[in-house]
Amino acid sequence: MLKKSESADGVLDVIIVGAGFSGMYMLHRLRQMDLRVKVLEAGGDVGGTWYWNRYPGARCDVESMSYSYSFDDDLQQEWEWKERYAPQPEILDYASHVADRFDLRRDIQFDTRVAGATYDEAANLWHIETEGGERYSAKYCIMATGCLSAPRKPDLPGLDAFRGEWFHTGLWPHDGVDFEGRRVGVIGTGSSAIQSIPVIAETADHVTVFQRTAHYSVPAWNGPLDPEVQNAYKAKYAEYRQRMKTSESGILYDTHEINLKSAAAVPQDLRQEQFELRWKQGGFNFQNTFADVTSNQESNDLYAEFVRNKIRRMVDDPDLAEKLCPTDFPIATKRLCVDTNYYATYNRDNVTLVDLKTSPVTRITPDGIQAGDTQYDVDLIVFATGFDAVTGALLKIDIRGRAERSLRDEWEGGPRTYLGLAMAGFPNLFTITGPGSPSIFTNMFVSIEQHVDWITDCLRYMATEGYDTAEATEDAQDKWARHVREVGEKTLYPKANSWYMGANVPGKPRVFLAFVAGHKTYTQACDEVAANGYEGFTLTRAAASAVTL
Ligand code: FAD
Ligand code: NAP
Repeated sequence: MLKKSESADGVLDVIIVGAGFSGMYMLHRLRQMDLRVKVLEAGGDVGGTWYWNRYPGARCDVESMSYSYSFDDDLQQEWEWKERYAPQPEILDYASHVADRFDLRRDIQFDTRVAGATYDEAANLWHIETEGGERYSAKYCIMATGCLSAPRKPDLPGLDAFRGEWFHTGLWPHDGVDFEGRRVGVIGTGSSAIQSIPVIAETADHVTVFQRTAHYSVPAWNGPLDPEVQNAYKAKYAEYRQRMKTSESGILYDTHEINLKSAAAVPQDLRQEQFELRWKQGGFNFQNTFADVTSNQESNDLYAEFVRNKIRRMVDDPDLAEKLCPTDFPIATKRLCVDTNYYATYNRDNVTLVDLKTSPVTRITPDGIQAGDTQYDVDLIVFATGFDAVTGALLKIDIRGRAERSLRDEWEGGPRTYLGLAMAGFPNLFTITGPGSPSIFTNMFVSIEQHVDWITDCLRYMATEGYDTAEATEDAQDKWARHVREVGEKTLYPKANSWYMGANVPGKPRVFLAFVAGHKTYTQACDEVAANGYEGFTLTRAAASAVTL
């Protein structure tokens, strides 16, 4: 019997790869257009990031009331968040609830990893091949594969012979890990480590943290979400969501005149007062105390020293405190971490910091971790070592466009896209939150909804106007890639060895993976492109009359 989602020849209108929040919403929107859509997802259920990252302490760092879909008012009114920053299980429940509510699972095939996607020029179809050898064809292919979905761990010799267990935060076992009475080594001190270390330390016999670079972290001040606060927020949801959509970060901040000034231009006492105020508010509010944290080194230094002084006060041992004080990069040029009890955890007797600056981790031994000449015995290793971000998941798939052009070859020197949405030479292929879009610098839900809505509008325009193929022009792509680079070069971001710049993966080209000018600026660019009949795309009818706009 013919599956409802397929045509008689088995060809679909759209294949979406990935069933995180991007793929789920994309499916929902395309179904509203009555298209035949199938989603292929490597995981066993919906949720993406929140399906895989089940490590202890995992939670969002954008507040729950904002870190959620806005597209359906009943959904946002009815869903009750329990904490200011929702923990991973709650976000996964939310994803599952959305899937149930909109009956999404019926068009999602789980446990299916896409290995290749090839454009067939003659048929104007994308042929998709899974690791299991299944094949699907569709007119459009939409990659909703995620920016932080390709976990990476360092290539350390000896891991195979390690007698204990090891886990990566981004591939955490579903039945949890028991730390009780065990000696745990955590490698990394980014967001995943900073969230998990305090929780692991509560039950482990001992936690040894291996720190290569100290990161900046600000307190979340997480806690139960007061129902009254939640209801008041919901009463103004329409206004708040609109403000998020027209902001640069997709996050709501209470912004006063002083917050629009340069930190360096404000008198010392006033600056200190403002920093304290924002620190007490918690989370990313701190980053937005003043206007120029990532553009002015002098201001950045003031922010950084404020945080270092906080660390010095929170950590009892002054030598240890200094080791935890970041000095290697401007604050906020690596993602600012948001924590619960991170620094205070180092006052516990069962937590030790190993500073890797002069003695890097060289190998895993059968009994533990070797750093420099010292061997640290552990029973369990947690790799909190991050992701091959933004391009990793896309390049794991063998994507071939016109004339077998390989995306891996095209991006050898770094990714080039048009608006982070499309690539020249790859017709009818779209990326949600692709490289060159601001996504990772924003509340991702805001970026995801904007991308999905834009792609939906584009497909509708093509259908209405009778176009069959949309392809970014080389010229438009080059201009956008140059713009992404130029905007980035005006900031302090290049000063950090961050995943934003591809610096965390040996051999990865050092380029701006995202557009740092912000969501509002970016949305205006996307809207202009659409308003001008999809300027920068070549639109073609099957009868082969092409229009380049
Ligand atoms: P993902 O959630 O990554 O989903 C992509 C899906 O594609 C995955 O399910 C994956 O299995 C699937 N996939 C990938 N490749 C293939 C393939 N070849 N074949 C089949 N399926 C494939 N952002 C924020 O804005 N605020 C936060 O507080 C926040 N917290 C985060 C915390 C953690 C621990 C991490 C890792 C990221 C966090 N992010 C946060 C970013 C987060 O990734 C996004 O907010 C959002 O969840 C991304 O949704 P997505 O659907 O685009 O991608
Ligand atoms: P990350 O920020 O890239 O941190 C990885 C850590 O591992 C860094 O401290 C890095 O050190 C270290 N590392 C890598 N290789 C190493 C090696 N060979 N030896 C020693 N240390 C090594 O990764 P992440 O913490 O998983 O976070 C990634 C992103 O996911 C975040 O930036 C954020 O966007 C998102 N996230 C958000 C939250 C949240 O709070 N909601 C939580 C987790 C993740 P260096 O700094 O020296 O490279």
